[in-house]
Amino acid sequence: MENLKAINSIGKLKDFVREIKDFPKKGINFKDITPLLADPKAFAFAIDGLVNRYLSQKIGYVVCIEARGFVIGAPLAYRLGAGVIMVRKPGKLPYECSSLSYDLEYGSATLEIHKDALKKDDRVIIADDVLATGGTALAAINLIEGFGAKVIDAAFLAELSFLNGADKLKPHKVNSLLKFDY
Ligand code: AMP
Repeated sequence: MENLKAINSIGKLKDFVREIKDFPKKGINFKDITPLLADPKAFAFAIDGLVNRYLSQKIGYVVCIEARGFVIGAPLAYRLGAGVIMVRKPGKLPYECSSLSYDLEYGSATLEIHKDALKKDDRVIIADDVLATGGTALAAINLIEGFGAKVIDAAFLAELSFLNGADKLKPHKVNSLLKFDY
């Protein structure tokens, strides 16, 4: 990894994602993006790669999903001249919230957003690090659409294509920079 002098292709960028077997539990092949975030060239290449298709789309807000989604979504918003909105786990946001519970493979989870975060017809993209089954992103989309706002796209650094999360998000479009089929 240290030998990579310049990041000028998606293939090279993929080398900065580290595989951690059986994390956080047995059977999960965790995609660790921390080496990519820590490398200034790789991080810049990734953000530039994601942002391009939105530059002329008048995006008002990037809704970032806790917690790694904050790291991806905030620089996207800055580049787009858009605002950052946080979707968080229960009890983290200080003001009144709308919340939504959704099923995970085992058990369930809840996401929250401030109840005044968006307005009808706001143009929004959502951002997270990894699209896996799509359950988390779908919950975020449902929260956003509860305001009458429009989800233009869902942006991810990486997509685990074998889990078919993009199908779950249809008809919303998925913009993922790196695709993993393992
Ligand atoms: P999902 O709801 O299944 O799409 O899961 C999405 C969330 O879980 C994302 O916020 C990811 O950060 C995280 N996640 C799920 N599976 C993985 C994985 N194999 N590697 C890294 N992150 C994952």
